[in-house]
Amino acid sequence: MFCIGCGAEGPTIDNFCLSCFPKHQRTVTLAAQVEVHTCAHCKRVLHGHRWEELGTEPSQYVPLLIEEALSVSGEGTQTVQVALANTEERLLRATVTVHRRREGLQWSEHLSTLVVLRVATCEVCSRRHGSYWESRVQLRATGRDIDAEELRLSQQWADELMRHLDESGTGDRQAFISRLIPQHGGLDWYLGSRSSGKALSRLLADRLGGAVTESVELHGRSDGVDLYRNVTLVRLPPYRAGDFVAIEDSKGTRSPFRVQSVRGGFTNLLDLRDYRAVRMRLADTLSLERIATPADLRRAVVVSQRGAEAQLLDPDHYSTITVLLPSDAPLGQEVEVLRFERDLYLVRGAPTVDDAQEDSTA
Ligand SMILES: [Zn+2]
Ligand SMILES: [Zn+2]
Repeated sequence: MFCIGCGAEGPTIDNFCLSCFPKHQRTVTLAAQVEVHTCAHCKRVLHGHRWEELGTEPSQYVPLLIEEALSVSGEGTQTVQVALANTEERLLRATVTVHRRREGLQWSEHLSTLVVLRVATCEVCSRRHGSYWESRVQLRATGRDIDAEELRLSQQWADELMRHLDESGTGDRQAFISRLIPQHGGLDWYLGSRSSGKALSRLLADRLGGAVTESVELHGRSDGVDLYRNVTLVRLPPYRAGDFVAIEDSKGTRSPFRVQSVRGGFTNLLDLRDYRAVRMRLADTLSLERIATPADLRRAVVVSQRGAEAQLLDPDHYSTITVLLPSDAPLGQEVEVLRFERDLYLVRGAPTVDDAQEDSTA
């Protein structure tokens, strides 16, 4: 066989010898200019139609993108080498060598292109900065405003949860808070994904003790697919753990109970008349009247104690009253009492809120 270019005898590819072949025929082409888009906010690189984490330096991702931009014809394999040189701000000159191999013959082709580095904003970052939302979580308390601690804790937990979801293995990049609005004595979060809204409402209901109701609303169509938004209401009861509520019996008599814990859809109460534990469905306790918080407790001097019965000095009327105790453990000099209607109820010495929480989860 001989070369139709120079006449030399020897192995040929498409009738050319190995040195003539690349001069007369190219098997690899590359556009004179290649544009590379990176996100100004998250530094992701546009790779096909997806924004991916391919590195932060052009040397980490430009060679890959150039290799994919090559158009190779003819049979055989190739390996690609890319050398980059800065020419000016946001412009790189890429020198590309493609080593080809076909039927045991090897040759190299040399190309070059101008790489234009463009800064853009990826889809998620534009949503993040553009008030986009797919889920609204409303936190409300029944018959009262959310208190300062509930406000502080719920915001802290929401921020922590979004960070966790964004960085966790599932990597919900749309786990972000696009708006947080105080509303009707509560808070409204507007979140970037429906799953982050579900996770937040579950967390708030679990930790603050609330009931969740969820609805879904259609908010548009994109590429023939219906788009939905979640609206979740987390409703807290009128009381918090440690507060006191009144419960009316069938005869219309109201009695005081301490709220021991609210969890798992149940409210655990302590009957202050006999210190019995009572468990009620949370939904059935949302309208209970809160009669006192721990700040409303009074201190009473213990006059005497005999077994599970004690005499206390009424802090308001300075008369001596008799109360039943949960046990015959010694009381000490003073106890905390709750005044409800005309009576005093011993609170200190009763099973604590923390004890009861451990009981209810056991
Ligand atoms: Zn030749
Ligand atoms: Zn981005």
